[in-house]
Amino acid sequence: MRIARIAHPTGMSFAVLEGEGPGATAAEIEGHPFAQIKMTGQRWALEDVRLLAPILPSKVVCVGRNFAEHAAELGHEVPTEPLIFLKPSTSVIGPGEAVRIPAVSEQVEHEAELAVVIGLPGARGVDRSSAAASIFGYTCANDVTARDLQRKDVQFTRAKGFDSFCPIGPWIETDADVAAAEIRCEVNGEVRQLGSTADMVFDPAALVSYISQVMTLLPGDVVLTGTPAGVGPLEGGDRVSVSIAGIGTLTNQVVPND
Ligand code: ZN
Repeated sequence: MRIARIAHPTGMSFAVLEGEGPGATAAEIEGHPFAQIKMTGQRWALEDVRLLAPILPSKVVCVGRNFAEHAAELGHEVPTEPLIFLKPSTSVIGPGEAVRIPAVSEQVEHEAELAVVIGLPGARGVDRSSAAASIFGYTCANDVTARDLQRKDVQFTRAKGFDSFCPIGPWIETDADVAAAEIRCEVNGEVRQLGSTADMVFDPAALVSYISQVMTLLPGDVVLTGTPAGVGPLEGGDRVSVSIAGIGTLTNQVVPND
């Protein structure tokens, strides 16, 4: 099932997306989608609504160096435990929104990633086998990074934390099989990253379990699972897309921040 957050003619709602192409519709959900889903009966043509970031998380927890080839391209070893860091909730934007390049960075890069969305009841101190039950679904994410600031600051908060540096979407797929799903990043139609979730060092359930030993993951929180090799520059005017097989494609324009 595809769950989206939509702006519709009379407000904003979660919705179930049904169908493809011209006949596609968005059926409104009452309240949030994490418990038993209840429909309001309201329905719009997909072309009459705008897709928003599919969830507004309390926090975005990211995992660095979770693909051996990407760790190598940045000159790092693969860690023996997941390397985690946070992106602020204010960095989240939705499909079609603009990634804004800050004037203080000369090297902003894309990182295509599979994003895990946590469901009810959240996750606190869960082991790997029960972590899977905490996962509501999956979406696409771009862990936009000011690489020069990441090197300069040593830690990641500024480099990863600018407003608009966490595009997610276009929707949450609750039935995705992410054991071996292709992850692709294109910039202006040119393939920059092509990887597979099968090459993750730590899989989504292992990551959720590990993070939940540190901090409580609340329903709606998002975990970015690391990027495959091929990270590269984003510049004003670029159109960047992250596609994950079985989920969808997240596309954003890049603009200079003025
Ligand atoms: Zn990343």
